[in-house]
Parts: sequence; C-alpha cells; structure tokens
Amino acid sequence: MAKSDNDKLDRVVAEARRAREQREQDYRARALQMYPHVCGRCGREFNRANLHELTVHHRDHDHDHNPADGSNWELLCLYCHDNEHQRQLEAQQGSGPAAGDTKGGTASHKAFAGLKDLLSGKKED
Ligand SMILES: [Zn+2]
Ligand SMILES: [Zn+2]
Repeated sequence: MAKSDNDKLDRVVAEARRAREQREQDYRARALQMYPHVCGRCGREFNRANLHELTVHHRDHDHDHNPADGSNWELLCLYCHDNEHQRQLEAQQGSGPAAGDTKGGTASHKAFAGLKDLLSGKKED
C-alpha cells in the first residue's frame, strides 16, 4: 500500500475522532449546564476540582441520540457509570437471542469485555 494512502486514512480517522470528541464535549457541556453537578446514582456532589469525574451517560446507550431537552442524558460519576454499563452488559448476556452460542465461555467473555470498552471507552477526560 502506498504511504500516501495511509496518511490519507490517518487523516480521515483523525478527523472523525476529532468530530466525535467535539460532539461529546458539546453534549457534555450542555448536560452540565442543564443538570446539577451530582451523580444520579450515588448522589456524590462535584465541584470544579473533580468535575472531570462526572460523566454523561446516555439512557438508551446511543451516544448519537442527543435530544435538546437532555432527556437522554444522565450525569453519573465514573464508578456509577461503569456499574451502569456493566449491568447493561450482564442483562444482554443473560437474555440475548444468541445465548445458545455459549461454547468457549472465556472467549465470549473476552468479546464482551471488548464491547464494554467500546461502550464506555469514549474518552471522558
Ligand atoms: Zn456515583
Ligand atoms: Zn453510559
């Protein structure tokens, strides 16, 4: 493959990532304006110093679904946010239509771990 193709791909990927981060910052800023800086699960309060630990959770787990009234957002601390996604994954594992395909349990466990990263791994720094 020609090097210029790689460069082009790199640039496209970088731009897509930048656009996504921009969008995330955008809805995060809006959510933080809209809601009190308190975790919706454990009630922990946040201030300027630790506000970066307060994250925006999407109730329907669709990061592209950002209605202007904020109805799909929930402010959660890092820990509760992680728990929330963990619970979601466990629910999917338990009742998913592909539940019959359980040979190689560790492998599928690994796959779900990767999925968890995909769901929660958006950089919320
Ligand atoms: Zn919390
Ligand atoms: Zn979330």
